[in-house]
Amino acid sequence: MARIIAVVNQKGGVGKTTTTVNLTATLCAQGKRVLLCDFDPQANATSGLGVDKNGASPNIYDVLINGADVERAVVSTKYGDVLPSNKALAGAGVEMIGIDHRETLLKQALDILSPRYDYILIDCPPSLEMLTVNALCAAGSLLVPVQCEYYALEGLSDLLATVRLVKRKMNPELALEGVLLTMFDSRTNLSLQVAAEVKRHFPGQVYATVIPRNVRLSEAPSHGKPVTAYDPFSRGAEAYTALAQEMIAIHDKN
Ligand code: ADP
Ligand code: MG
Repeated sequence: MARIIAVVNQKGGVGKTTTTVNLTATLCAQGKRVLLCDFDPQANATSGLGVDKNGASPNIYDVLINGADVERAVVSTKYGDVLPSNKALAGAGVEMIGIDHRETLLKQALDILSPRYDYILIDCPPSLEMLTVNALCAAGSLLVPVQCEYYALEGLSDLLATVRLVKRKMNPELALEGVLLTMFDSRTNLSLQVAAEVKRHFPGQVYATVIPRNVRLSEAPSHGKPVTAYDPFSRGAEAYTALAQEMIAIHDKN
């Protein structure tokens, strides 16, 4: 069965999609079987691995709302498999109202695919609403990217409150996979201060690997490639490779 990891932080622009796309590719390069489940209506993770976000059909919306076959929705790429998203997913939270067990629709779909993979990474939307609740019900653990910027910790208490609620009501096993420092700029004191503060808040739970601010990471998506394919020797590529190795080493130990 796959380890299902939700990449979540209700703040936008903290590096969720960048992390999901590139970690999928680097785990895959380490020989793991990986599925990226794009669960953001913006579908940037879908296009980030080179899958047409307007043309993918069936997609995760069709699976959850129209009962499409989830196995038919999976698209294989050189960098890992993708369960594509679509902008229609934006309305799915409302359309789920009245559906029985609506918090577990994503879980039902991913449980079918789980035996085929080592890892399933879910790219969450920037909210704590029904889509994210679905992701937290489907996941075994959550990976929280935190941008090394002012107010980095703002909102994390709301996230953790939602996690506690999901654990109590629906998914008691849900664990914190790790906190990932992103867009770190070693030239600024601010980045260092934020990193220290995040480590104080989450002792022992912050990855040793830190993702630097690297322009290659922001350029790669427009080429439909992970950074390791776009510029393999960039600092961004090195960092996400190191993150995959760190994660695998942690899982091999446990
Ligand atoms: P989220 O999914 O949390 O909204 P994204 O991964 O889309 O965040 O990142 C927000 C923006 O920042 C994007 O334009 C992305 O290309 C850019 N970005 C993300 N991580 C980095 C990084 N480490 N260095 C430089 N740019 C980055
Ligand atoms: Mg995103």
